[in-house]
Amino acid sequence: MMFMTHDDLTTWLDHLTKELKVIAPRDVGKGHVLYRPVTNSSEITFDYTRPDLSAKEFLLPHTERLMRFEKRADQLEMHDLSCEAEQIIFGIRPCDAHGFVALDALFRDQEPADAHYSQRREMTILVGMACPQMWEGCFCTSVGGAPDDPSHLDALLIPVDGGYAVQTVTDKGEKLLASADFKEVTDGQDRTLPEIPMNEIVPVLPPEQWPGHFDEDYWMRLGERCLSCKLCTFICPTCRCFDLRDEPIASGANLVVHERMRVWDACTAPNYRTIAGGHNSRPLKGQRIRNRYYCKFHYYPQDFGPLGCVGCGRCVEVCPVNIDILEMLSTVSAMQRELDVLEAEVEL
Ligand code: SF4
Ligand code: SF4
Repeated sequence: MMFMTHDDLTTWLDHLTKELKVIAPRDVGKGHVLYRPVTNSSEITFDYTRPDLSAKEFLLPHTERLMRFEKRADQLEMHDLSCEAEQIIFGIRPCDAHGFVALDALFRDQEPADAHYSQRREMTILVGMACPQMWEGCFCTSVGGAPDDPSHLDALLIPVDGGYAVQTVTDKGEKLLASADFKEVTDGQDRTLPEIPMNEIVPVLPPEQWPGHFDEDYWMRLGERCLSCKLCTFICPTCRCFDLRDEPIASGANLVVHERMRVWDACTAPNYRTIAGGHNSRPLKGQRIRNRYYCKFHYYPQDFGPLGCVGCGRCVEVCPVNIDILEMLSTVSAMQRELDVLEAEVEL
C-alpha cells in the first residue's frame, strides 16, 4: 500500500496550487462546505461530510458563455468561446465523481458530443477522498456506489491512522501523483483500511418496472407538498437540464453583438415544459415531481444507460418540505410488491 502523511499531502497540494487550478472542499462559514478554487492547502478543509453543492458546476457551470455572434454591416461572425485550463478536483467524494458518469452519458458519449463539457472533462483530474462513514440520507450503496469506491476517480485517498492510503486508478492519476512524496508501508505500523459503517440498502425498482406505477395517486399527493423551489435539482450531481439564451452584449450603428448563454434549468419549475403558444404539458406539481423521479430511475437509464441518481442524499437534506427520495423509493417498491401479489392471484 502507498501511504502519505498529512504533512506530505499538504506540501504536495501547495505545490499543485502553484501550477494548476485546484478545487477542493472549503469551509465558507456558518457550517457550510463547498468545492471551491483554493490557492494553498491552508484553505482546504479536511474535516467535512459531503459539501453542500456537488462538483458538477466545474464541468457544467450554472451559467456559461458558449459562443458570440458579431454582426458588422452585412458580415456575421461566430466565435466559439473556449474553456478554461486543466483543473484538479481534490477531495471529491466518490458519489460526486459517480455523478459525472451520468453527465458523460449525455454530454460526452453521444454524437455530437458537447464540445465545452467534453473539453473540460478531459482537462479535469479527480482526486477523491473516501468517506469515513455514510451520513444521514446517504444511499450510494443502493445505486451502485460505495463510500470508498475508486471506480470513477483518477486517484483515491483513504484516511488511515497517521495519514492516507493512496490508490491510483487511471494513468492521469498516476501521472499526477508521481510528483507526490509516498512512503511504502514497511514500518510495521497499523495502516489497515478502516471499516466504514454502512447505511441500510434502500430498494430501487429496476427501470422496466416503473411504468406500472405512473398513474398512482401517490405522485399527486407528493406534488401537493412540493414548493417548486428547484433546490433539489440544483444541488443534484446528476441533474443536467439547461436553457439556452441569446443575450445582447453590445449594439451600435455598425455592430451588434450577442452571446449565447447556457444556464441550468430545473424540471421542477412551473414553466419548464411551457412551449411556444403557452401550452404547458406538465402544469401540476405532482406531474413534475413524478417526472423528476422517472427521469432518474426510468427514462435516463433506458435512454442513456446510467441511473440519474448516485445516492448522495443532498435532496433529502435540502428539501424545505421533507420530500424524501428514500421514502419515495420505499413507497414505489411497496407498490410493486402489491402489484406482484395481485398478478400472482390473477394467475391462480
Ligand atoms: S426541494 Fe422539495 S419543495 Fe423544492 S422543488 Fe424539490 S421537492 Fe419540491
Ligand atoms: S436525486 Fe437526490 S440523492 Fe440522488 S443524486 Fe440527486 S441529489 Fe443526490
